[in-house]
Amino acid sequence: MKITVLTLFPELIETACTTSILGRAQEKGVLHVDTVNIRDYAQNTQGRVDDYPYGGGAGMVMQVTPIMLAYKKALENMQTKPRVIYMSPQGKTLTQAMAEELAAEPELIFLCGHYEGIDERLIDLIVTDEVSIGDYVLTGGELPALVTIDAVARFVPGVLHNAESASFESFQDDLLEYPQYTRPETVEGMTVPEVLLSGHHAKIDEWRHRESLKRTLIKRPDLLARAVLSEQDRAYIRQLEQELKDQ
Ligand code: SAM
Repeated sequence: MKITVLTLFPELIETACTTSILGRAQEKGVLHVDTVNIRDYAQNTQGRVDDYPYGGGAGMVMQVTPIMLAYKKALENMQTKPRVIYMSPQGKTLTQAMAEELAAEPELIFLCGHYEGIDERLIDLIVTDEVSIGDYVLTGGELPALVTIDAVARFVPGVLHNAESASFESFQDDLLEYPQYTRPETVEGMTVPEVLLSGHHAKIDEWRHRESLKRTLIKRPDLLARAVLSEQDRAYIRQLEQELKDQ
């Protein structure tokens, strides 16, 4: 997958994307992250890419021309006309399903805003998707773009060592992941659940599924409304709800 990020702070993107799993994925050639510095396309000698908002008000707005030119530069090095994702608190909130869907694209462009954001006309001209990482406002789009790239990259074949690690995780099937344990077997008198030491894979799978249901009920009951549940799952949840009431 090839990703190009239009940004005022390419070093932020480059540092994160050449570190750890994303860095290894780039070395292996399964992921390629490029940046285009919007400031290189400033239309003045001071390198300014923002101006006062029409109608007045606080803050500055990123101008159309430098971003359009940065976008055209990005297209020069891409094979397709990729989706352009503008990171914005006004966008659709990033979910695991959205990350998986974006990972099917061969190429993506991310646009990081600053100040009060970008001139609205860019949304009509080049932006195909607006994505938010949550209901709070950050100073710029780089951290949101990195969060999104990380979540997307985990679904790109070859990025993770073990193909299974992306296949059952929290939010897959709208359930949270079961509890995980590693060595040693006993820590401060607390032991690993016996079933995990049994080597009985069917029993381990059943235990994990039930723990997922239990965790989701306790920590994120809102997810259960969307989850696909069997009759057995529903009966187990009813039993858990009763147990919680009785406590
Ligand atoms: N004035 C804008 C508004 O109220 O919608 C907020 C602008 S914010 C200070 C500057 C930039 O940070 C945005 O253009 C966007 O790229 C990025 N940003 C801030 N919060 C974000 C969030 N929750 N998700 C995604 N991007 C965000």
